[in-house]
This record gives sequence, C-alpha cells and structure tokens, in this order.
Amino acid sequence: MSKSLQAIRGMNDILPEQTPLWRYFEGTVAGLLDNYGYRQIRMPIVEFTELFKRSIGEVTDIVEKEMYTFADRNGDSLTLRPEGTAACVRAVLEHGITGGGQVQKLWYIGPMFRHERPQKGRYRQFHQIGVEVFNLDGPDIDAELIVLTWRLWGQLGIRDAVKLELNSLGSSEARGRYRDALVEFLSARLDLLDEDSQRRLKTNPLRILDSKSPDTQALLADAPKMADYLDEESRVHFEGLKARLDAAGIPYVINPKLVRGLDYYSKTVFEWITDKLGAQGTVCAGGRYDGLVEQMGGKPTTGVGFAMGIERLILLLETLEQIPESIARQIDVYLCAFGEQAELAGLALTERLRDQLPGLRLQVNAGAGSFKSQFKKADKSGALYALILGDDELAQQVVGFKPLRGQGEQQNIAFDALAEHLAACVVQG
Ligand code: ATP
Ligand code: MG
Repeated sequence: MSKSLQAIRGMNDILPEQTPLWRYFEGTVAGLLDNYGYRQIRMPIVEFTELFKRSIGEVTDIVEKEMYTFADRNGDSLTLRPEGTAACVRAVLEHGITGGGQVQKLWYIGPMFRHERPQKGRYRQFHQIGVEVFNLDGPDIDAELIVLTWRLWGQLGIRDAVKLELNSLGSSEARGRYRDALVEFLSARLDLLDEDSQRRLKTNPLRILDSKSPDTQALLADAPKMADYLDEESRVHFEGLKARLDAAGIPYVINPKLVRGLDYYSKTVFEWITDKLGAQGTVCAGGRYDGLVEQMGGKPTTGVGFAMGIERLILLLETLEQIPESIARQIDVYLCAFGEQAELAGLALTERLRDQLPGLRLQVNAGAGSFKSQFKKADKSGALYALILGDDELAQQVVGFKPLRGQGEQQNIAFDALAEHLAACVVQG
C-alpha cells in the first residue's frame, strides 16, 4: 500500500479484537472514579501552542522536541495536546469553576500526541486517563489519589506487578535553593557530565537527576539531596502523606531522584512502575502543582493529579494474562433463519426478545445462506447457542435451540417460552 495510505508511524488502530479489553479497562476506571466522587470533563484535542509552553515549560522534552505544532489557516499556532493537565487548567479557569476556593475533582480520558521514537509502550498517539483535583491542599487528597489507583490495580489483578515511588520536590523556594546547591556541585564537575546534562545544567538542572548516563548517575551519588532542602511545610505535608499510605497499607519506596519531566510540579510527586514491560515501565505518574494555576493567570489555586498510560496498562494486563473471560465472548445467541417467511418471523421474534432481555447479545444472520454456511457463521461468532428457524419450526411456532459448545442436545422451544429459556441459559450476569 502506498505510504500515504498508511497510518502515521506511532499512531495505532485499535482493532475489534482489542477493543473489548480497552472497554473493560476504561469502564473499570470510570466506575472506580464515579465511586470516589470524581466527575468527567472533556476538553478539545487541540489548543493554542502557547498554553503548553506556558504550563509545561519551555525547557522540557515535550515542548522542546515532542509537540505536534502547526499553523491554523488563519495563522494561529496550534498544538495537538501532549498531555491533559494544561487544557484542564485552562478549562477550569475559562469557566470559573475553581473560583472562590471551589473544590473540583475531575477526570478525563483521551488521546495525547508526542513526537517520540515509537517502541513497545511508547507511541506518538497514545491514550491517558487523567485525574486533577483543585483547591484541596492537604496530604489527604494526595493520599486518596494513590489509594484509588491502588484499588484499581487490585480490581485489575495487577497489584503485585507495580510498585510506588514517591518524592517531595518542596516549595518553589526550597526547590530554588536546592537547584542552586545542585548547580554549584555539578558546575565544579562539568566535564564529567554527559552532553545532555551539561546543557540542562543551564536550562533545567533538576532533570539531570533522572539522566540515563551511568557516569552522571555515579557523580550524583555525592550530590546534595533534595530531602535536606525541603521547607518545613513540604516536609510536614510529605510526612502526612506517608502516614496515610502506611495507614492504608500501601507499600512505597522513596526515590529522591524522582523529579518528573514537567516543570510545574511541587511537593508530592509519584510514579507507579512495573518491571514487566521493559524500558517503558511507568504506567501512572503524577504529583502536586500548587503554583500552576497562578502561573497560567488564575488566582492562587492548589492542584494535584496524575495520568495513567492506557496502552501500557493494556500491555500489562495482556502480559499478566489478567483478561476476564467474560469479555472474550461477545455474542450469546445467533439466529439462523431459512427462507423468506422464517426470516420475517425471525426479525419480529428477535426484536421481541431484545425488549424482554435487554442484556441479551443476539446476532441475527444476515445475507441468508444454506444450512451449512449459516451454522458455520454461528459457530465462528463465538455464540453459545444457535436458534434455528425454518418452515417446519414456523408452522409449529417453535425455534430449534442448538447448543454450540457441547452443552447438551438440540431441542425445540415454543416462541412464547423462549425469553424465559434464554434468561436461564445466558443472561444471568
Ligand atoms: P516517560 O518517562 O515514559 O516518557 P512521561 O514522564 O513523559 O513518561 P507523563 O507525561 O507523566 O509521562 O504521562 C503519564 C503517563 O502516560 C506515563 O506514565 C505513561 O504511562 C504514559 N505515556 C507517556 N508518554 C507516552 C507515550 N509516548 N506512549 C505511551 N504512553 C505514554
Ligand atoms: Mg516522556
């Protein structure tokens, strides 16, 4: 196929074989967030480029090299959203729904776009579910975000495969003092730093902490530690968070080098990491961003949130074979009808069944066909039972009820008794 008729590299179709697992995952998360009192918000996929520069930070990987930015027909610079927080903050400000200290507990789902090198677990269009909370500044809400993700891992059966890393970045003043100390330490050892880190020393020195270079990492062993620079308020906040995680029985490790890729974090940062997916191990990441709303032109408004990568979590479910059996089968019953009269009666019958059994997954054969071909399609559909309707059955006002997966013999069921019979066989759930 010519290149222009293929999907863009790193942007994937999610095929019908895969969508049941996606819908199961998304439904599970949505249900959980409903239960905790979070409300969904939907933002556009495209925003003014300036929004991302202002919020994510000019000297971040995302803004420097990963954004899909283009000129609109009227010359505005637009960008496909690389993440959700910026647009969410813009939306709450634009609609004034965080004014006067109003608490908002929000979530969103959708595609994000980053021009990265595509590989397993890393794509150019990928999907996130994100959660953002505004106007709650205590560690209790940081803890709730972590507790609810922990519950989610439990529901999905992947708890044993993920671990929680935590750090506190302190207030922006504390981070500034720490940044100065780090820069002083590293400047004295400039020639030992990798090239990227040398550049970052001037632009975004904290990012050096998560440098991939072993030499730089060795050097950092003796560098000043963020924990020694934390302001009192952030220290107390962090202790409060840890106490709550202990109380909830959630294991964690403190990772003093966890800084996150975006500029806007303060105090709590965290990541859920798995070792089951190779290099792309972070399945969920977030933190507190108390200064962001103000930085974007709003009144001081605290914020905290996280985003999980759906592709990585789907990969994890597949890797751990945590795929519920119930999502594999999509059809309960398949109607085979032979001849025009039977087809017409079959349509009336199946529509009545759908009224009576709203949960029934019933596929009606389309395109007619011989006995053999219709049975083949019934079998291939994965249905548990075939319903058979021909002239003989029609004359007796019955359908043939044929188990397709070896659950007993074929029998005739009267039209009037069919709903009850099906309810007992297939729609218990
Ligand atoms: P990474 O370090 O893996 O690049 P990140 O710090 O850039 O992640 P965030 O911006 O915090 O990621 O996004 C939250 C989550 O979204 C990540 O933990 C990951 O699960 C997912 N994610 C981020 N980028 C991608 C991508 N290009 N493809 C698939 N999932 C992604
Ligand atoms: Mg990244």
